[in-house]
This record gives sequence, structure tokens and C-alpha cells, in this order.
Amino acid sequence: MRIFVSGGAGYIGSVAVDHMIAAGYEVMVYDSLYMGHREALSAQAEFVEGDLADRRLLHDTMRGFAPEGIMHFASHTLVGESVEKPFLYLGENTQNAINLIEGAIESGAKRFILSSTANLFDEPERIPIGPEERIVPGSPYGESKYFIERLLHWANVTKGLRFAALRYFNAAGCTERLGEDHTPETHLIPLILQVALGQREEIRVFGNDYDTPDGSCVRDYVHVEDLASAHRLALEKLETEERLFYNLGNGNGFSVLEVIEAARRVTGHSIPTAMAGRRAGDPAVLIADSSKIKRELGWEPRYPTIESIVESAWAWHSKHPDGYASGC
Ligand code: UDP
Repeated sequence: MRIFVSGGAGYIGSVAVDHMIAAGYEVMVYDSLYMGHREALSAQAEFVEGDLADRRLLHDTMRGFAPEGIMHFASHTLVGESVEKPFLYLGENTQNAINLIEGAIESGAKRFILSSTANLFDEPERIPIGPEERIVPGSPYGESKYFIERLLHWANVTKGLRFAALRYFNAAGCTERLGEDHTPETHLIPLILQVALGQREEIRVFGNDYDTPDGSCVRDYVHVEDLASAHRLALEKLETEERLFYNLGNGNGFSVLEVIEAARRVTGHSIPTAMAGRRAGDPAVLIADSSKIKRELGWEPRYPTIESIVESAWAWHSKHPDGYASGC
């Protein structure tokens, strides 16, 4: 089956591409390399350097490739940035998704997998958070993903495009070949590992007065390879289903301080901390109830512990201290 992957040179997209190729799929990556890395491209995937905003190039490319499935990773993804630049997110994320969905329909694709987010659930009534939880986007970023879920709903109703919305909790970890390399880096685990590498003096803990056991925020960290396998399973399930909504996490929450503690054990470094104020837009606790995807698709995370996730990240970051620029 031919799969067209937007953002296939990015952190999660590149891991999904490797996973799909290993499973025998034919993959084309479409990526502007605005955030993605040429080094992360799979040698076995076709690659077109292009922006989703370039409708003509996008649609011509999609028509030529005639994909059966689409995976949509390319997006602005930072909650904090989205609060500062709401219309970048509400505008570009949404318009780029419209361009891709139109391209999917025009080129005859039947299945679409969206990278959605836990940021849809800012006021959960139940924790862990299941896919039926009331949707209250926590930021313009979350709202943009909700818009796209709704676009897909209407693409399904009016044009028969089948879709799965996968709401990731905290994507983390690395594979042997592929890692997390953002500029600027804002995510907790790579920042902690920069301290262990001697590139940063300390890690700032954003808030120690939350209503959690140790006062720091609790998150559900899920390995990127586990996210990739969920994409494949959802794509396969769309052979018979019209619309799927799944929340993806390990089902275990770890506080910022617990993640730092795990990194101390894995790296052997003392990792000094500094207490800092709360970061705008951060809810206290986000833990996924992934029982629906486990039950319906037989998905089972292969990295259920925070140690195993941090270990995989440490293996990559210690080999690539400057990210992909390290060149190995
Ligand atoms: N965090 C922190 N210090 C940092 C970066 C992140 O305390 O330097 C916290 C952040 O407030 C959140 C958790 O770590 O509670 C995970 O943040 P990250 O940015 O990795 O992912 P997000 O939850 O925003 O998707």
C-alpha cells in the first residue's frame, strides 16, 4: 500500500516512516524541512521537499503518487508558542490540513491518519482521560487540531474519506537511528539530557505548587515507536471503519521531578534542578486512558516504563550531542 506522509522528516513522522517501510509499505515523504531534518529521511522513502501551503506542488505530487493512505504529521506543535501566535496555529495548521485533505480526496486516497493531541482535554472530568472525554482545547494549538478533526469529519461525511484521529499524550524517546532535535528545544526529556551532557547547567522545573503528589506537573510519556505502531494499526483498521478516535499514552503518569530522577538513574549524572514559575497553558495532570485502542486494535506499548523511554533517548542523545548536526 502507498502512504503519503506529511512531516516525514520530523521527530515522530520519521519514526513512523521507518516503521511503515519495515512493515512493507511504500512511502512518500512530503516535508518542507522547516522543522524536519534531511538526515532523518529514510533512504527507502521517496522524498519531495515542499510546503503544505504550496497547493499546486502538493496536489501535483499527490496525484502523481496516488497514495491509498495519508499520515499527517507536519504542523506547528508548541502549546506555548500558540498562545503567543494564535493565528499562526489557527490559520496555518488549519489551512495546510485543508490543502492536504483536498489533495487526499482528489488523488483517490481512502484513509487519513491525523496526529492529534491531548491538548484537546483541558478540563477533564475523569483521569485517566479517555477518547470520549469532553473536548475543551487548552490552547490555539489544541483548537487547531480540533478544527482538523472536524474537517476530517466533514470530509468523511461528504466525500467518504475514512480517518483516525490519534491524540498523543507526551511523545518521547528515540530509536537507534532517529531522535528528538528541535530548535529551540522546549521539551522536558531532551532538555534534561542536555544537562547530563554538560550543555546546560540545570533543568528548570516549571511549577512546584500544582495539586499533584510532589507539586510538579504529571504527564504520560509514550515512546515514538509505540506511536508509530498505533499509526499502522489504525491505518489497517480503516479498511472496515469510517472514523476512529484514540487516546495514546502509557496510562502511567510521571511528574517532572520523577522524570528527572529517572534520568539521574539512567545517565548517572546528578542533573541539578532550579524551581521556576508555572508555564502558561500547562494543566496539572495529563494521563491517557488507552484501553480503547488496546481493546480494538491490540495495541500494546513496548516501552511502558519511564526508564526504558529515557534510556532510548539517552542512547541517541549521547551519540548525537548536537542532534542531527553531530553527523553520525
Ligand atoms: N517542563 C519543565 N521544564 C522544562 C520543560 C518542560 O518543567 O524545561 C515541564 C512542562 O511544564 C510539562 C512537562 O515538563 O509539565 C512536559 O513538557 P514538554 O514541553 O516536554 O511537553 P508538553 O507537555 O508541553 O507537550
